[in-house]
Amino acid sequence: MESDQQSPPAKEQRRSSNGAAESALETARRQLSRGSSHLELGDAVRERLRHPTTVHEVTVPLERDDGTVEMFTGYRAQHDSVRGPYKGGLRYHPDVTRDECVGLSMWMTWKCAVMDLPFGGAKGGIVVDPKSLSEGERERLTRRFTQEIRDVIGPTRDIPAPDMGTDPQTMAWIMDAYSMQEGETIPGVVTGKPPVIGGSHGREEAPGRSVAIVTRETCDYYDRPLSETTVAVQGFGSVGANAARLLQEWGATIVSISDVNGAIYDADGFDVGAIPGHDEEPEAVTRYATENSDVTRLSNEELLALDVDVLIPAAVGNVLTADNADDVRADLVVEGANGPTTFAASAIFEEREIPVIPDILANAGGVTVSYFEWLQDINRRRWTLEEVTTELESEMVRAWNVVREEVDRRDVTWRDGAYVVALSRIDEAHEMRGLWP
Ligand code: GLU
Repeated sequence: MESDQQSPPAKEQRRSSNGAAESALETARRQLSRGSSHLELGDAVRERLRHPTTVHEVTVPLERDDGTVEMFTGYRAQHDSVRGPYKGGLRYHPDVTRDECVGLSMWMTWKCAVMDLPFGGAKGGIVVDPKSLSEGERERLTRRFTQEIRDVIGPTRDIPAPDMGTDPQTMAWIMDAYSMQEGETIPGVVTGKPPVIGGSHGREEAPGRSVAIVTRETCDYYDRPLSETTVAVQGFGSVGANAARLLQEWGATIVSISDVNGAIYDADGFDVGAIPGHDEEPEAVTRYATENSDVTRLSNEELLALDVDVLIPAAVGNVLTADNADDVRADLVVEGANGPTTFAASAIFEEREIPVIPDILANAGGVTVSYFEWLQDINRRRWTLEEVTTELESEMVRAWNVVREEVDRRDVTWRDGAYVVALSRIDEAHEMRGLWP
């Protein structure tokens, strides 16, 4: 499963200081207002971008293995397509809501624009705990959901991908269900597929790789050699595990990692290459802690407050809040998950001068390799893993540099710098295309 795939830590951790959970949509809208304050964004465009173009809500009936039929709610929020087809993941999680899909679809619009990909933003999901379904039930649910949204997706319309609770197998079922109905094989309708049916090499590790690349570039920018850098990574799913492994390979010391049950800490660092990721073994971190009694066990909350150089929240959203932002002792935060920092927490980090590299840049390797996959599919051509890795490396460094220039030039936070880059591209496209009719 893709980014942030682990079950959320305790609900309380996901709540903001006033006790109410800050929804992804609230955070995304506040970030938009703030980001646009640095630009002369037309009022009409800004107002337009606060809202999705459409949100499709569907009811998905599923015949359970015991023969009973249960209804599930599914969404596909399509935010903006001024720069190209809608693009974004599908999430299977009990906390999926309409508003969450809208907020996450806004982030996809900015993410694609920061990377200068010819895509807009979308996000969808089903309100379901995928772990409560058998594999057959997951397949039937996925195929029926595909049928319900078939008219609004497509390789030039809206291209789903994996997200929390979904994986390459889920994408294979969507591709098959869609293709069967269309009467021809259409691999470009989804990305993040297994390579054997048109998926791209390097897609699964891509979000983690981009997190590692931007961490490396940012450490270099702040004159911190990776060989002298300690890192704590929350979440050992595809994003966290791949980021940790690459950073270790490049010389950093990974002193703490975690799964949904808790964190482990060793000042000398772990050999993260030897610990399976969540997709290989869901509770490998917990097993490691049980088998190695000398490691220090911490809670996920304590991991966030460790005295490390770099903190990478790569599990779920809303973990850095006004309640704990003052406890963070890292010198740099790199967002592996989507939306791990609430708006209030961002303000505290700004005041404390702790740079936060935003999700829309840091984990954008996922959608960037999705773009490479889509190109391979529509051109009926296969890239080697080496081509993907080289191309991703140069795209990430290029995008990081464009954002860095805004950070230097305007003396703004990294998030604001990324918003300036994204919003100016989107605004220009809206101005150029104009409003019809
Ligand atoms: N779900 C991923 C994200 O949040 C990838 C989306 C995609 O590849 O379309 O960036």
